Amino acid sequence: MITAHLDSTAAFSDHFEPHADIAPGRDDDASGVAAVLAVASVMKKLATTKPPKRSIRFVLFNAEEHGLIGSKAYARGQAAKKAPIVGVYQMDMIGYNVNPPRSFEVHVGYLPSH
Ligand SMILES: [Zn+2]
Repeated sequence: MITAHLDSTAAFSDHFEPHADIAPGRDDDASGVAAVLAVASVMKKLATTKPPKRSIRFVLFNAEEHGLIGSKAYARGQAAKKAPIVGVYQMDMIGYNVNPPRSFEVHVGYLPSH
């Protein structure tokens, strides 16, 4: 599974003023959603030449900021079905680097082998 969460809020941040402050949604977690979509696009292209050995799910959870409600519900459902999930790659706030220099690199794409 490759996952991120859709919702965003800064309501739990110190000194948050909802009428004056912006929610940090572009990082938390639009960055993760964008990455999930980018990986899905690349994996779709890769699958045309070499199908993956396992199913890959691209999952976007809601209500993360209210206590992981969406992801916990999903996990409970999958556990109840005994779904054979072997790995989860969760991306949350991947577009922010707190340490200087404040930059980061995103590497996407692939070159098909010949
Ligand atoms: Zn988050």
